[in-house]
Amino acid sequence: MRDEKLASVLSLIPYPLSLIPYPLPLFPMLPVVQQLLVLQERDQRIRSLQRDLKEIPNLKIRAATRLADDEAAVAVARARVLEVELAIKNLDLDAQTRRNTIVRLKDQQFATRKNEEFRVMGLEIVRYEKDVHDLEDKEIELMEKLESVKPELVTALAKLAATKKLVDEEVAELTERTKHIEARLVDLTTERVTMVQSIDPSPFGMYERLMKTKGDSAIVMLENGICGGCHVRVVSGTMNSLKLNEAITYCEQCGRVLFIEG
Ligand SMILES: [Zn+2]
Repeated sequence: MRDEKLASVLSLIPYPLSLIPYPLPLFPMLPVVQQLLVLQERDQRIRSLQRDLKEIPNLKIRAATRLADDEAAVAVARARVLEVELAIKNLDLDAQTRRNTIVRLKDQQFATRKNEEFRVMGLEIVRYEKDVHDLEDKEIELMEKLESVKPELVTALAKLAATKKLVDEEVAELTERTKHIEARLVDLTTERVTMVQSIDPSPFGMYERLMKTKGDSAIVMLENGICGGCHVRVVSGTMNSLKLNEAITYCEQCGRVLFIEG
């Protein structure tokens, strides 16, 4: 919003004044300092966008790690379901083995002519039938347990799906942001090339060195006698030089170029 307002204000002012960032300095400023100030504003925007761009892969990774907890919860719930299902299957197999034995014993019992053998087999059949009954009881218990663990898996899967949707949206948004930043950077860099062509090489070189060594800004405002870069009060000579406005004035503490606002 502020950018739009600034753009509309600046569009009314002829170059190079049109490139002066809002608020317009009211105190006279050397044209070269004006140019450098505008360049600095572009450079700071470029740097900030480059930082944003560099941070995007990390943001994508961070978004993806949000899935980890939900994935772990799904794995736990799934393992619980599988465990119960496997136990039921084993009980089933055990019961089936005993049922087969019962059929075999009944066949043998039917075939035997010896009373004792018939009686012993009868006892075995009863024992196996009791086993089958017990196994079936256990199976019913496990079936009930399965019904209670299955919803946990369903809930965990639903939560994972919801998180994944959010993460996918976030990643898509970040990809979109990358494209936008890259396009903006191309524009700003192109603008910068044009801008630099109109600046004297010597002050431009000085500006480049300052930007490199200071990291944040080369041109700073002097406010109430305090340097906007190092926040130290400048000496009166520096203040006078600024007011005279005949040559570039540097902060004697940090070496940044100063400008003053009325
Ligand atoms: Zn300073």
